[in-house]
Amino acid sequence: MKVVVFTGVGQVEVREEPSPQPGPDQVVVDVAACGICTFERRLFAGDKKWYPVAPGHEAAGIVSAVGKAVDGLEGSVKVGDRVTMDLLTRCGTCGPCRRGKTALCRYRQGRKLTDGTVSFGGFASQIALDAKSVYPIGNASLYHAAMGEPLACCIHSLRQGGFQPGDRVAIIGGGFMGRLHLALARVGGAASIGVIDVSPERLEMAGAAGAHWTASPDEALATGGKQDVIYVTAMAGVELAVSMADKGGSVVLYSAFDEALPASVGADKSHREEVSIVGAFSQEPADWKLGAAYIRSGLIAADLDAMVTAKFGFDQVTDALKLVTTKPTFRVFVEPPAVDG
Ligand SMILES: [Zn+2]
Ligand SMILES: [Zn+2]
Repeated sequence: MKVVVFTGVGQVEVREEPSPQPGPDQVVVDVAACGICTFERRLFAGDKKWYPVAPGHEAAGIVSAVGKAVDGLEGSVKVGDRVTMDLLTRCGTCGPCRRGKTALCRYRQGRKLTDGTVSFGGFASQIALDAKSVYPIGNASLYHAAMGEPLACCIHSLRQGGFQPGDRVAIIGGGFMGRLHLALARVGGAASIGVIDVSPERLEMAGAAGAHWTASPDEALATGGKQDVIYVTAMAGVELAVSMADKGGSVVLYSAFDEALPASVGADKSHREEVSIVGAFSQEPADWKLGAAYIRSGLIAADLDAMVTAKFGFDQVTDALKLVTTKPTFRVFVEPPAVDG
């Protein structure tokens, strides 16, 4: 089977690896599509130098083999099932894992290719993984299923913010992650949803996707007023988010930020008004369960369709990576060659 390996800044190669066999508790999935996320973009651009590595953590495909111990188990997948996959591994024994915060596992070690190269497994024709880490998506699109990981991350973010039906929600950043937050808040029963961005084009798209109001950062407070939960999905806007929080509200720091970003968060406001400022990082199994359910239901199908920017074959993987490093995109997908193909 084939796997894409990043070997240096702007350098990728397709390698041949032995086809995986399922362990007793595992299944093998033939990968149909894998999205390119910030992690892969940064590796390709050289913002993060970790070579060689086989990335790809937003993948979906079809189950082609099932291990003995999970074959026929109630709730487990069968050969032919279309699935979204949780490709991260968690140790289960470190401090964060023991507290159930598995997204924060100290040892997300990934997998290994035959020469020891760390592999996440998504940019490959096939992958063997634990049956508990695959989630069936019925007849839904495999591109929608390949957005299972970012969707689970955004569901985690909504949970971190204590989001409840009827809440007033504001989302700072109208990019891919902001749009997933918008879709989830809408189907989750938000009373109102505002999207804040510096790009008029993104604001227009967010309005068309169901945002009740949109605004530039300067006009956000005047336009949207106080909010129950504010999600920061851009690399700035923390102070704006805190200023928009109503009493008892919360601010979720979803995005990665520059480590040197100064932000005054108002300790006294947090005390007097019980404004919570919380982080959201990665996802946990409960987030996957709900994400897969949303994908399967079709409830956010139009939202996910709008996020598909382009699709590339393995032979064009460099073109796919050039596109995401040079142009604003939502999601660009890589399609591995069919097994034995
Ligand atoms: Zn991702
Ligand atoms: Zn752990």
